[in-house]
Amino acid sequence: MNQSNKEYIRLLIESGVHTLLKETPNNHHKSNEKPENSKPNHYLQNLHEISNIKDLIFNISCHKTPLKKTANKIVVFDGNINSKLMIIGEAPGKEEDQQGKLFVGRAGQLLGKMLEAINLKRENVYITNVVPWRPPNNRTPTDDEILEFLPYLQKQIDIIKPSYIYLLGAIATKAILATPLSLEKLRGQWHKYNSLNLNFTVNVLVSYHPTFLLHSPNYKKEAWTDLKMLQKKLNEN
Ligand code: URA
Repeated sequence: MNQSNKEYIRLLIESGVHTLLKETPNNHHKSNEKPENSKPNHYLQNLHEISNIKDLIFNISCHKTPLKKTANKIVVFDGNINSKLMIIGEAPGKEEDQQGKLFVGRAGQLLGKMLEAINLKRENVYITNVVPWRPPNNRTPTDDEILEFLPYLQKQIDIIKPSYIYLLGAIATKAILATPLSLEKLRGQWHKYNSLNLNFTVNVLVSYHPTFLLHSPNYKKEAWTDLKMLQKKLNEN
C-alpha cells in the first residue's frame, strides 16, 4: 500500500468509517473468478486495467454484494462522459432501482431544476452515486457499503477526469473528502480531491442532497448560494 493510500484510509477511519479492518481483506483488483453472468464476448478485467466506463459497469455488475438480493437494477451513471463537471449523489431510490436510471424520482426532478437554474443541462453533466445498488427500503448506505464501492467511484473519477466535482449530501462527502467535518462546515469553500492512482487533482464543492432539500426547503437558499459558486467557477474557465 503506498503512502497516499495509507493516509486516505486513516482519514476515512477518522471520518467515521471504522469497519474497514476485516479478517479477510477486500481485493477489488483480483478477478480470477468467473462472473455468474459473464458473456462470452466480455471478460472480467482487473479494476486497474479498466480504462472506459462500459468495462467498469460490467466489472461493477459482477461484484458480489448483499444489496443485489433486494435491488432490481444496477444504476451507475447518467449524462456526458466528457463533462468537466461530475455530480455525486448517494444511492438509487425506488424509481431509480426500477428503471435502472439515475435521479429519475422527485429528487432527480429537483436536481434537474437546480442545474437549469445555473444554465446547465442535465445531459451535459456526468452524474453518479456512491453506491450503485438501492439499499433496502432506501436506508442510508453503511460505512461498509461506502468502502465496498469506493474503488469503483475512484475509478470513475480517474476515467472521466472531471475538473470539478459537486457532492450532494453527507454520504458523497464522506466518501470523497474523508473528513469528519459536517456539511455546514465544509460548504462555501473549494476543496481538493487527489486521484489515488493518477497524477491529477479535482476541485470539489459540497452541498445539500436534493432529497434533504425536499424535506427541508428552508435550506434551498444555501443550496442556491452553492450553485452560484459552482456557476462562477465554471464560467471562469
Ligand atoms: N438519490 C441519489 O442520491 N441518487 C439517485 O440516483 C436518486 C436519489
